[in-house]
Amino acid sequence: MRRTERSEIREPRHGVVTAVNLTKHFGEVTAVDNVSFRLEPGTFFALLGPSGCGKTTLLRMIAGFEQPSNGEIYINDQPVAGVPPYRRHVNTVFQHYALFPHMDVATNVGYGLRQQRPRLPRHEMEQRVADALRLVRLTGFEHRRVWELSGGQQQRVALARALINRPTVLLLDEPLGALDLKLRREMQVELKLLHEQVGITFIFVTHDQNEAFSMADRVAVMRNGVILQDGDPARIYDRPVNRWVASFIGQMNFFEGLVEATGEQGAIRLTRAGRVVRALMPDTAITAGRAALVSIRPERLWIRRGAPESNGQNGQSFSGRLVRSIFLGDQIEHTVESQELGRVLVRVPNVTAMTGDMPAAGEEVVIGWRDEAARVVLDEARG
Ligand code: ATP
Repeated sequence: MRRTERSEIREPRHGVVTAVNLTKHFGEVTAVDNVSFRLEPGTFFALLGPSGCGKTTLLRMIAGFEQPSNGEIYINDQPVAGVPPYRRHVNTVFQHYALFPHMDVATNVGYGLRQQRPRLPRHEMEQRVADALRLVRLTGFEHRRVWELSGGQQQRVALARALINRPTVLLLDEPLGALDLKLRREMQVELKLLHEQVGITFIFVTHDQNEAFSMADRVAVMRNGVILQDGDPARIYDRPVNRWVASFIGQMNFFEGLVEATGEQGAIRLTRAGRVVRALMPDTAITAGRAALVSIRPERLWIRRGAPESNGQNGQSFSGRLVRSIFLGDQIEHTVESQELGRVLVRVPNVTAMTGDMPAAGEEVVIGWRDEAARVVLDEARG
């Protein structure tokens, strides 16, 4: 099997990274469990998941710092089993930048080049250091010491150092984790621009969904060593495969029900309300009579004062009482207690605060959604 796969690979393509049934055991712990994917050159791929889900182990196997227990990795369409990290055409940027404190910026950035044999001519080394510093907007900082730089600048030095050897794949292990929120946001934009400029494959590990979504064009959501969902961020947000992914990626309201009719838009009878609602069905086949959850993002609900009118043609409305409203700056998050739905989160843009038409805690309200906002997801705990 392995031989066939390898012989099929004729023309190496730079920047392609493939994992085939990759597994890593540490004693009793299965850190990575049968993971497969193929990245096209230039992909910005984020491995997203909670602490301990195996994302760093997966990255370290690609880098060559850990050996898989099972499965194979191909970089540039070449198998890399037994190839040491420095021969893999990949470079890694870590959360703790691991810069050399006694060296200045230029010496740190040029470190990888000085290790190359045969030696590069001096002027070429200087040119490449200058190019790498320009890429991360640190021209003029050549002779600064590392301790004279801010956290964001240090991280940019680490990026320049990782890029100077012109890797075909850059691995980033929570590289922004040590930065404060504002700097993180700035660096996210910078990294995205840098990726566009250099055009190489980036594999980025993070537990922060905002970070993954703002930069990556492909996200793999991991849990317990398994990739649960792999795709473009908008799709993952809009069509999570199960309850766990739906809750991990932002907030979600769930209402229990029973499937009455299938098709692209199914009909679900909500258990508590006893009412049938329409909702987009998942890709997985679901049969009528099965328990499922209707899920709706808080920002896809509406809220107003007063009592419900008869249901509109395209959507649902329910009465409730406003429990509390939390001011989030650009949005207001309302918690509503509804007899028919239970506790519901509703997020609205903060323009309502300006019009003065906000319901107050304790008031009767009506909440609702359009049919297109509702999705059916399976509760993976029930299989
Ligand atoms: P974090 O975000 O906290 O870094 P992670 O998703 O990157 O978490 P890993 O570091 O890959 O997760 O760890 C996955 C699992 O493997 C964890 O249960 C961890 O304790 C275990 N593990 C990782 N490295 C080792 C090791 N060298 N020896 C034993 N167990 C390990």
